[in-house]
Amino acid sequence: MTANLIGGEWVGAASGRRTERHNPADTRRLVATAPDSGAEDVRAAVDAVAQAWPEWAAAGPERRAEVLGAAAAVLERDPEKLAAELVAEEGKTFAEALGEVRRTPANLRYYASEALRLTGHTYPARSGLVYTARQPVGVIAAITPWNFPLNIPSRKLGPALAAGNGVVFKPSEVTPVLARRLTEALLEAGLPAGVLALVHGGADTGAALVADPRVAAVTFTGSTAVGERIHAAVGPSRRTQLELGGKNAVLVLDDADLDRAADIVVRGAFGLTGQACTGTSRVIAHDAVHDDLLRRVVARAERLVPGDGLAEGVQLGPLATREQYDKVRRYVRLGLDEGALLHTGGEPPGGAATAHGYFLRPAVFSGVAPDSRLAQDEVFGPVLAFLRVHSFDEAVSVADATPYGLSTGIVTGDLRRALEFAERVRSGLVKVNQPTTGMAMNAPFGGLKASSTQTSKEQAGAQMSHFYTTEKTVYV
Ligand code: NAD
Repeated sequence: MTANLIGGEWVGAASGRRTERHNPADTRRLVATAPDSGAEDVRAAVDAVAQAWPEWAAAGPERRAEVLGAAAAVLERDPEKLAAELVAEEGKTFAEALGEVRRTPANLRYYASEALRLTGHTYPARSGLVYTARQPVGVIAAITPWNFPLNIPSRKLGPALAAGNGVVFKPSEVTPVLARRLTEALLEAGLPAGVLALVHGGADTGAALVADPRVAAVTFTGSTAVGERIHAAVGPSRRTQLELGGKNAVLVLDDADLDRAADIVVRGAFGLTGQACTGTSRVIAHDAVHDDLLRRVVARAERLVPGDGLAEGVQLGPLATREQYDKVRRYVRLGLDEGALLHTGGEPPGGAATAHGYFLRPAVFSGVAPDSRLAQDEVFGPVLAFLRVHSFDEAVSVADATPYGLSTGIVTGDLRRALEFAERVRSGLVKVNQPTTGMAMNAPFGGLKASSTQTSKEQAGAQMSHFYTTEKTVYV
C-alpha cells in the first residue's frame, strides 16, 4: 500500500479512492494499492510545494548537492531488494531491473554535481558590472511513464531539485511502489518537507496538475499523443520538456557482420520486452543480406526464455499491463491483415510458468511495407518489422519515413558509411554497431520530430540547467 506525500505527510486521496496494481507476471498477486488522486489532492500538493520551494532554493547549492548525494546512498543500500520490487511491479527481468536500480543513484550524483555548476556570465561594460544569474523556475510538474519507474523520475527530480525548484511528482499509475521508494530516499536524505510532493493517479490527475497555473514548467516522458495534449494545455507562457515515442530502426547493409547484427537487433528489439522508447522496432536490411539476417534473428528470438523476472534463467519478462498485452496482439493481427509475413511469435508461450501473466513470444515480421501501420506506429512491445531495401540511400530514406526520430542504428564495418549515416539520418540518437537502446547518463538525450520537444533535451548539462532555471541579467 502506498500513499501521496503532501507537505511532508503521507496521506490518501481526499475522495478515498484507490487503485490496485497486480504483478504482470502473475496477475493473481496484488503488488500495491495507491491513491487515485483528484483535483483537490493536486491543488493541495501544488499549495505545499509552492510554499516550500523558496527555502530550498535559499539553502544553497552545496546543501542541495549534499541531499541528492545522500539520497543516492539510500538507494544504494539494498539494490537487490529494490530490483526485486521493480520486477514484481513492472515486469523487467532481474538483470534489467538491477541495471535500472544502479543507474538511479548514479543519476542523482550526477545532478548533485550539476547543482554546483549553475553558472552565469559576466559581460564587459563601460562602467559597473553586468552579469547573469541562474535561478529556480519554481514549481515543476514531473509526469513519468512506467517503463523506467526509477531511472526516468531520477532524471527529472534530480536536476529540478539540484537547481532549487520544488517538484510535484505524478508517476505512472502502473508503478506506484517504485515512485514511493525514490521519494522516500529523498526524504530520508534530508529534503525539507513540502519541497517534493508525490501524487498518485492516472490521466485525470496528470491533466489537473498540468492545468494548475502555479506549475511553472512540466517535464513529461510518455507517449506522443499525451505529450501533445500537455503541450497544448500548458500554452506558450509556461515551459515543457517532452520526451516522447519512437519507431526506431537498425540499418543492416551488405557489408555487415550478420551475427553481430543479429545480436544488436535482438538486444534492441526484445530487451525490456520491447518496452523501451529507444527499442528497435524496424530492421532495414539490404536485399543481399536480408534473408540470412532474418533467419539469424528468428533463431535468436525463439531461444529467449520468457517468465517471471525473478526466476532463474529468464530473459524475457511480461508486458507490463493488460493494455500493453492487448495492444501488441492487435498489432500482430494488423500486421497479418496488412499482408506482412509472421515468421515467429506474437502468441502466448504456453506452459504453467507463464499462464497467469501478460506473456507473448517475440514476433518477427518480414515483407512489411514502409507506409503500413506496422512500419509507422509505435507498438511498444516485442514486435519487429523487417523492411527490404536495395541501397544505402533507400535505407536512409526508409529510416526517416516515420513521424518519429528518436534512436536509429547502423551495423557496418565501414567508418565512412557510418559517419555519412550519422550526418544524414533525422534522429536524436545515432548508434553505430550498438543497439538502439542504452545511453550515457551525462550526454544529451532526446529525439527529433515527434519524439521530443526541440527546445530542451534531458540529461544535457548546460541545456538541462536551462530548463530548470531562469536567467536574470544584473547591472551593478
Ligand atoms: P503515457 O503517455 O500513457 O503516460 C505517461 C504519463 O502521463 C503517466 O504518468 C500518465 O498517467 C500520464 N498522463 C496520461 N494522460 C495524461 C494527460 N492527459 N495529462 C497529463 N498526464 C497524463 O505513456 P506510458 O504508457 O506510461 O509510457 C509509454 C510511452 O512512453 C511510450 O510511448 C514510450 O515511447 C514513451 N517513453 C518515452 C521515453 C523517452 O525518453 N522518449 C522514455 C520512456 C517512455
